[in-house]
Amino acid sequence: MAERGRCPECGSAALVEDAHYAQQQLVCAACGCVLAEGLLTTTYTDEEHLREVAYSQSTGQKEQLSRCLQRGIRRVQDLCKVLQLPTVFEETAVSYFQRALQHPSFHLVSLEKKELLGGCCVFVTCRQHNWPLTMGTICSLLYAKQELFASVYLSLQKELGLSVPALSLGDLVKTHLNSFRLFQHAADVPAPFVEDKEKMVARTMQIVELASETWLVTGRHPIPIVTAAAFLSWQSLQPPARLTCTLARFCKLAGVDLPPPAHLRLKELLEILLRMASQLAWLRVFKVDKKTVVKHIGDLLQHRIFLLKNAFCLEDGEEQRAAAPGEGSLGGRCPGSARAAGGAAQEDGCPSEGKRQREGGPRPLLPPCLINPRKRLRTAAPSAADSAVTGDEPISDSEIEQYLRGPEEIRAFRKAKAW
Ligand SMILES: [Zn+2]
Repeated sequence: MAERGRCPECGSAALVEDAHYAQQQLVCAACGCVLAEGLLTTTYTDEEHLREVAYSQSTGQKEQLSRCLQRGIRRVQDLCKVLQLPTVFEETAVSYFQRALQHPSFHLVSLEKKELLGGCCVFVTCRQHNWPLTMGTICSLLYAKQELFASVYLSLQKELGLSVPALSLGDLVKTHLNSFRLFQHAADVPAPFVEDKEKMVARTMQIVELASETWLVTGRHPIPIVTAAAFLSWQSLQPPARLTCTLARFCKLAGVDLPPPAHLRLKELLEILLRMASQLAWLRVFKVDKKTVVKHIGDLLQHRIFLLKNAFCLEDGEEQRAAAPGEGSLGGRCPGSARAAGGAAQEDGCPSEGKRQREGGPRPLLPPCLINPRKRLRTAAPSAADSAVTGDEPISDSEIEQYLRGPEEIRAFRKAKAW
């Protein structure tokens, strides 16, 4: 037994257990030799000595627990340690995991899914405590495919009846900005590009709030929005030196990934800011555009509520009613215009209306998917004639015969498939 506590390479007794990602390892502290990986269980007495013990040798204290459950609990605990979560989280996540494995719907799932189940429990716990852990982070730690993780996560949520609050954007801004390398002087970051962290977090938060108020957040992935907002806030804090820097270069300098939708979010944010700028008399004189509006972001954010109220008409309900009578007659020519509540960009069928809306007075504050619908919107609900079919109507022979092959067709088909 004493032999087990020594490193076979150098004989040192200093063995430590190390949670490398979610993989438990027994490592020699003296020479770094990995003695064992993926421990299944330890007994309570041996836990102090950090020694590997086979399940059959265990004291039996945990014998009522299945091997799979013990292994899973271990993984959940390791994951919490790797993510440096508070101890309370670990207990909650473990209890969710135990509950989930007792549930019949998780008994027969694949081992791969069972491994992800632990990750899902940690993820749910973090969300419930407003801890900004993203699904992307946990998937990369578990080497999991996002689709598979999402399916396990959704069934866990359904089976245990868990209510999971949405990601807190404010917390996400703070943690995401932590990974930006722009707050200290470094060899590859030019001096004017270095920014104060507090200032940048505060302004990014304001821009993200603005995005949320103007329907740019709902239904979208939050990270690209935070990235675009961080870029705008960084530019606006020192415009002369930074206006020429692109989003791509900014992300590269900051050492963060550039998620593809961030470009679109940036464009949408700039559009909102331009609309707000058009409401300030002293900015109207300058004829601000997408580049120059960045200089005034500080001003615009300060008067955000007032400017938003003026830049967008809030009576979209009224407009919809006004558009409704025209729907019948115009339906064929420009579908969707009424549904988009007089939205700005329209299909080529009615360019005049689109143009007038884009340049003229305030447009309603709507999510971008309603203003620029990618698909042709359905013009009307299924008509009354369609729903009047009972299913008892007579079926004529000729109607059935058109689905049968004729002798000529049978011959041709046989020739094509020469078996
Ligand atoms: Zn050693």
